[in-house]
Amino acid sequence: MGQKVIIADQINEKGIKELEDVAEVMVDTSITQEELINKIKDFDAIVVRSRTKVTRDVIEAADKLKIIARAGVGVDNVDIEAATEKGIMVVNAPESTSVTVAEHAMGLIMSLARKISIADRSVKEGKWEKSSFMGIELNGKTMGIIGMGRIGTQVAIRAKAFGMKTLVYDPYITGEAGAELGVAVVEFDYLLRNSDVITIHVPLTPETKHSIAKEEFKIMKENAIIVNCARGGIINEDDLYVALKEGKIAGAGLDVFENEPPEGNPLLELDNLVATPHIGASTNEAQRDAALIVANEIKNVFLGEAPKNVLNMPVLDTETFQIIKPYLQLSEKLATFLIQAAKGNITEVDITYCGELGDFPRIDILSRTVLKEILNSILTEPVNMINAPTIAKNRGVVITESKRSEAEGYKSLVKVKIKSDEGELSIEGTATKEPRIVRIDEYWVNVKPEGTMVITRYKDIPGSIGTIGTKLGEHGINIAKMQVGREAPGEEAVMVITVDQMVPSEVVDEIRALEHVYDAVYVQL
Ligand code: NAD
Repeated sequence: MGQKVIIADQINEKGIKELEDVAEVMVDTSITQEELINKIKDFDAIVVRSRTKVTRDVIEAADKLKIIARAGVGVDNVDIEAATEKGIMVVNAPESTSVTVAEHAMGLIMSLARKISIADRSVKEGKWEKSSFMGIELNGKTMGIIGMGRIGTQVAIRAKAFGMKTLVYDPYITGEAGAELGVAVVEFDYLLRNSDVITIHVPLTPETKHSIAKEEFKIMKENAIIVNCARGGIINEDDLYVALKEGKIAGAGLDVFENEPPEGNPLLELDNLVATPHIGASTNEAQRDAALIVANEIKNVFLGEAPKNVLNMPVLDTETFQIIKPYLQLSEKLATFLIQAAKGNITEVDITYCGELGDFPRIDILSRTVLKEILNSILTEPVNMINAPTIAKNRGVVITESKRSEAEGYKSLVKVKIKSDEGELSIEGTATKEPRIVRIDEYWVNVKPEGTMVITRYKDIPGSIGTIGTKLGEHGINIAKMQVGREAPGEEAVMVITVDQMVPSEVVDEIRALEHVYDAVYVQL
């Protein structure tokens, strides 16, 4: 088996079983931070929930760790930056809790609309206050969803089932996308003014922090209910207290607080507040799914397949991956060619995607491939697709990426140009059918990027090609194929000679010394 996984927090049994198929699994859910730092060097993967902190210290002590898996959504307990620098993949299970959290939001909404929790308390106190708990019916009311991501979408589906009209505020989704989901995408103020129920499903960011405060409560309906199952701090709790106390809104449901647990928080004294202890994701089903999702991600990585939820690397859907795959091979070849053909210390790498290729999402995966190949050839530290951009940046290598709709008659082209302290070299390739090198600097060629090649720049006059061929022949090197690229007769041209044998550097030097030859390099792809 060989691979070792440590499970540092309690996860569902099914996830553990799944991992045991492919790895040696150690479960230690009471491991201390210090013990983890000492032991992590033996493991290829770690699974955590929120108890264990995968800090920079833990990551730096890891020798062969490939993947950090969070069996859940939030990754506040993982130092993603440190993992990225070290080329360690961080994965989570973002889909696992969406339905569960949406159901919890609906639960809080129902509890407020029908005063369930306060009525429950009253009955248990021996009272029977039927007339005190007049509720509201959700049917026909308006649900306002702030943040139409995974959870917001699940809430919208449930709101529809309740016969509610749905308004959404999410600056990152379009009206058309909203229409497809059967919701109206509106401005923030419009949602606040017109919703009977407001539910928050956005991340906590500088933009969303305290985005619901005094002014926002002022414009809400008097009978409005607000629910936050996202993150504490999005609602200003002092202003919420005043709004609830003064009856500016009817009620609030909070699963999350700015400080958890919310000890001494005056909100907890209010009858029109329903509180739960951050249990939005706490169902057996969500925990099982989270464990299974991350176990499968680890299995995929161990089996050399692509994981789906990587937080520090671009991820492609299967269909895009199939189209991009030959370009991944091409990018590796282009980089390998450039490393061998270029001279000097590389200072800049420019990558241009021409034609259809530029329209694919997360095409930067090709740039990462190019960088990985280039950096691995010059560094001893291992470089992978995750840490390649960071390592390049730390070494002062400037990376530029651009797109161009024109692809010179091809469907798609990738152009990689490297600049060094001794000059520039560029190469272009396509992979519509199979990887081909189609241009070296300004010269058009058509070469399969494989085998051993001698690339020469020479003056295009009668006899030049012959003398180069003769020189190779003198050393017993057989020419398999030859391609010439030139701009105009009599000018500088490029010749790519594919040969059957390795070409010793002395032979390349002899070719370079020939009359009318400006340069010669040997490349092995
Ligand atoms: P998601 O990333 O799928 O969706 C977030 C949505 O918010 C996106 O559509 C995004 O466009 C939108 N958004 C971002 N900034 C916005 C802004 N300023 N205004 C309006 N919309 C904005 O996330 P998700 O999985 O749906 O999770 C939503 C929230 O729920 C997160 O805060 C997450 O941490 C939280 N969560 C809580 C629990 C819990 O236990 N209570 C469990 C899981 C997730």
